[in-house]
Amino acid sequence: MNDAALHRSTLAIHAGRGPRTPGGPLNPPLTLASSFHGGDYAREQGTPVWEAFEEAIGTLEGGRSVSYASGIGASTAIVETLPAAAKVVGPAAGYAWTRSLLRDRADSGRITLTEVDTSDTEATLKACEGADLLWLESPSNPMIEIAELDRLCAELRDRDTRVAVDSSFATPLLQRPLELGADFSMHSATKFIGGHSDLMLGVVTTRDERLDARLRHVRAQLGATPGSLESFLALRGLRTLPLRIETAQRTALELARRLSNHPAVKAVHYAGLPTDPGHERAKRFMDGFGAMLSIELDTTPEAAEAVCRSVRVFTHAKSLGGIESLIDRRARYTGSSAPQTLLRLSIGCEHVEDLWNDLFHALEQENQS
Ligand SMILES: *Cc1c(COP(=O)(O)O)cnc(C)c1O
Repeated sequence: MNDAALHRSTLAIHAGRGPRTPGGPLNPPLTLASSFHGGDYAREQGTPVWEAFEEAIGTLEGGRSVSYASGIGASTAIVETLPAAAKVVGPAAGYAWTRSLLRDRADSGRITLTEVDTSDTEATLKACEGADLLWLESPSNPMIEIAELDRLCAELRDRDTRVAVDSSFATPLLQRPLELGADFSMHSATKFIGGHSDLMLGVVTTRDERLDARLRHVRAQLGATPGSLESFLALRGLRTLPLRIETAQRTALELARRLSNHPAVKAVHYAGLPTDPGHERAKRFMDGFGAMLSIELDTTPEAAEAVCRSVRVFTHAKSLGGIESLIDRRARYTGSSAPQTLLRLSIGCEHVEDLWNDLFHALEQENQS
């Protein structure tokens, strides 16, 4: 059967299972091994469990995947593929640990760094003059901004600037950066791919053999190797990603709509809303708007914090992408001292009315206090 003819939701369920051997298990077994007969060593050549997970993600992303101990391990590996003193353009807003990774490397002289608002395509292209790498995160944390991936990749293809996309918020089902022309597609598999808040894992996919070899070498050298159980669980999580993401993004859109009409809510950031600045872009190259949204409250940071403490169905916790909905107060731009009333919501698979009632009551309580 030709894999390319299958829908991505089918591939998420079938890819990476290996041959259908009579008597063999349906799922690749959990192999616990550091060393193999014949000379292979896990950190260098990988293990069957990592390979099964990588095969599945590679099939969905359209390239070859290398997995790491965490999302940030995967990001660090991408940076390590760069030549000394490489010129990097990074996002001015986005996942805080990615930004501090780039800043730390710039401070030590490993790279030079220009930070730019990556939702501003013209400014980003201008900053990319002579750059070796453009780092994009889209949709972005925590403002859910959509970078113009198709245009940026197309414009940079003829230059010597590589493009890396942190696609964690989109999942491999809703966005395929390599097809748009990116060189690296990266995921924190800790989030939606794993999907159950019980593991840490990262993965990078490329189409260039030399980059793939470099990423494998860097993994062996950094030692950011995935755990066997984590890889096994992430692959198991991937099997239900089509169902989870479909339910979660349907609920996210409904909540975004209702929240935009709530008097305590100043702004809703979700590309599924036709009024959102990312809406047209996301419609162009994404297959859905995802399950992450953020809201700005018309209140104090303390009151916003109190909303997080009064929820009963949502869980007040860091991270995202699990089957259970999470809420957390995020600094609009990390390091900013402006009043911070931004709440980031990771929508899971609970009933939409239970989630809405929970939020509604938490916001009401806040209004009254
Ligand atoms: C969580 C996250 C990361 C880092 O992944 P870890 O698995 O926590 O190391 C990177 N980028 C984004 C967008 C994330 O949400």
